[in-house]
Amino acid sequence: MKFTQLRLSGFKSFVEPTELLIKDGLTGIVGPNGCGKSNLVEALRWVMGETSAKNMRGGAMDDVIFAGTTSRPPRNMAEVTLSLDNHKREAPPAYNDLAELDITRRIRRDTGSDYRIGGKVTRARDVQLLFADLATGAHSTAIVSQGRVGSLINAKPKDRRHLLEEAAGISGLHSRRHEAELR
Ligand code: ATP
Ligand code: MG
Repeated sequence: MKFTQLRLSGFKSFVEPTELLIKDGLTGIVGPNGCGKSNLVEALRWVMGETSAKNMRGGAMDDVIFAGTTSRPPRNMAEVTLSLDNHKREAPPAYNDLAELDITRRIRRDTGSDYRIGGKVTRARDVQLLFADLATGAHSTAIVSQGRVGSLINAKPKDRRHLLEEAAGISGLHSRRHEAELR
């Protein structure tokens, strides 16, 4: 399923509202060290429901909020919206009425995150499952962060199996089974 747009506001170094159109074909992001390339990849992972602050290179989740500079005050809120092209209705049936699917995550200092799919407030779980069913997501093999290749080579067999399950697109099923067993 195609990503068509990424919008960020107050997220890490993207303090001002920023809109990135993702066109057909391959998209490359280039720029000098520290310009925010990894921050963009982290925005993708974050909007898909990442729960580990460490994976976002922070100590707490609200570290993703713009922390301020000598010339700009810090922000109290960060928001990322990812738009998916759903005109072929590839998203799960629950979202069939939407040709474009906007997934939004917002965080305010000290109050945690809230999520919306197509404008409706949802659980983090629904966002995570949506992406897991699309065989992508915060921990999917589709997102390879800086340093990940090295850690993969040294991974334990169990962790490697997890990656293979993600690649095979069955982790959504595992997730649901786990949720069902907890009930
Ligand atoms: P490299 O080429 O070295 O990998 P990069 O383009 O991937 O660099 P990033 O790591 O995405 O760069 O961006 C780092 C910048 O983002 C740093 O200048 C850092 O200060 C800034 N930054 C990260 N988190 C925040 C935050 N919460 N508030 C403000 N700025 C932030
Ligand atoms: Mg980087």
